[in-house]
Amino acid sequence: MNYFFEPTREFAKQQDKTDVLHAFRHEFVIDEKTIYLDGNSLGRLPKKTAEAIENATNKQWGQNLIESWNKHWYFMPQELGNQIAQIIGASADEVLVCDNTTTNLYKLVFAALKYQTTKNRVVSDIFNFPSDLYILQGIKNQLRQKTEIVLAQSKDGILIDTDDLKSKIDKNTALVILSFVSFKSSYLYNAEEITQYAQQKGALVLWDLSHATGVVPINLNQINADLAVGCTYKFLNSGPGAPAFLYIRKSLQQYFESPVWGWFGHQNPFEFNLKYKAADGIQKFLSGTPPILSLMAIETGVEMILRAGMQNIRNKSIKQSEYLIFLLNAKLKKYRFSLGSPQNFNERGSHVSLIHQEAYRICQALISPHNSTIKIIPDFREPNIIRIGIAPLYTTFDEIWQTVERIIEIIVNGEYKQFSTTRNAVT
Ligand SMILES: *Cc1c(COP(=O)(O)O)cnc(C)c1O
Repeated sequence: MNYFFEPTREFAKQQDKTDVLHAFRHEFVIDEKTIYLDGNSLGRLPKKTAEAIENATNKQWGQNLIESWNKHWYFMPQELGNQIAQIIGASADEVLVCDNTTTNLYKLVFAALKYQTTKNRVVSDIFNFPSDLYILQGIKNQLRQKTEIVLAQSKDGILIDTDDLKSKIDKNTALVILSFVSFKSSYLYNAEEITQYAQQKGALVLWDLSHATGVVPINLNQINADLAVGCTYKFLNSGPGAPAFLYIRKSLQQYFESPVWGWFGHQNPFEFNLKYKAADGIQKFLSGTPPILSLMAIETGVEMILRAGMQNIRNKSIKQSEYLIFLLNAKLKKYRFSLGSPQNFNERGSHVSLIHQEAYRICQALISPHNSTIKIIPDFREPNIIRIGIAPLYTTFDEIWQTVERIIEIIVNGEYKQFSTTRNAVT
């Protein structure tokens, strides 16, 4: 794709006018005085979701009480799973919505290691989300150190060295576990190539789709993916702590056992039998009562993504990211900014990392302007990264243009120097 861009606000506004997804922005709760560029961490609130939670609270719970279990609630983890399946290219009954990403990862990694009886190696990379690596370390601890954890490296801090990754996947490898899009640099794997390579060596592959779901096309069935997890509160806009999802390839399900045997994963929970018998399908990976009010926040977010269409979303995401990188080159390089994400959009998800020595304080000045200028919310990642999250359902070209102008202002007038370098609890 080759774009013709101009570094002017008129150009940015013109792009918004011709954008086929522009109408979706009006479906979100938006305060026009804030530019929000953190949809890769917590998506915006869709107006319809606020109504759905209100209805579930006052009507389904308030009035219908326990009867709502049979009317609306009981099958939500499977039904929402089937809807998310359409976004990630999975089949019906391969996806379940439950717990958080971290807990789902634990359940799948544990099950995978039990299935791969004779193999002890788990391969990941240094770009993976820390929680994913903590889960591996915890499981190693529980299995009395029998598991060997090996991490692929990066030469430049932006791309994973896939030759190094492949060299670490051997015949003793039980599982390869990677972020589809890495949270810092936005590096996007060629998932098909890695999956095939690992499977030839007899390893299973688990993709963490958290930073990719709803913004990068994913086709789990087409690449014959074994396992996946992902969260719903980022580009799926399902709200803080909304439950996550897990995917298990159909043909693997009969061999996989959840390490958490709870009544919701029982073949017949309401028999209250004293002996555990796992449900047949993916449902056995449920544990206890699902958080219904949080599940209520997922449906609209997923429906909007399906209605917008993944290819439209990806096209806009690439165009906006390329526009930001164009402005970086045209305007920010001379203030010592550099690109902390892959140059090639085929290797990049939907956030762009900008590197600057003063990244933390510039970020603070964007979020808390001392005068009446616009408030801009990106986020900061150690040690020197400002992440700009592009959420095509609501991010505008004009917001990207304004953000670059505001960064220049903060540097030129020295505004960032008024802030401390001491980090907040959540950055
Ligand atoms: C956001 C994210 C998570 C979050 O895990 P939770 O358990 O839902 O807090 C996990 N993995 C990756 C790759 C993420 O980007």
